[in-house]
Amino acid sequence: MQQSPLWLRVACLAYGHHLGNGHATFGPGEVRLALSTVDRDGVLRQPASSDVTRAIRTAVGYGWLAEGSGARCLIIPRHAIEGGRGGFSTEHTPCPVHDPERRVGRHLRALGK
Ligand SMILES: [Zn+2]
Repeated sequence: MQQSPLWLRVACLAYGHHLGNGHATFGPGEVRLALSTVDRDGVLRQPASSDVTRAIRTAVGYGWLAEGSGARCLIIPRHAIEGGRGGFSTEHTPCPVHDPERRVGRHLRALGK
């Protein structure tokens, strides 16, 4: 069976993982691991980091992902956001990768500092 192209798989990963703000964050190497395949011998084959980067750029070029997407955070285009994981997350929820200062500020405000 032929695999879907890597750019489509990375886009689908984002659509299945994003929060209400449209951002899907991942730890170091998690996107690469999620895009891995298992060959006929049962060996895990991870794509090269450069292939992951190229796949993300291709998905952005096709309009499936938004500019600013990277291996630590894939961004869904605003027009395609509906719902998302986490019931408390909204389009205004700061992204820890793209907006870490705002996130820290919110926590400090919550602590009354
Ligand atoms: Zn983000």
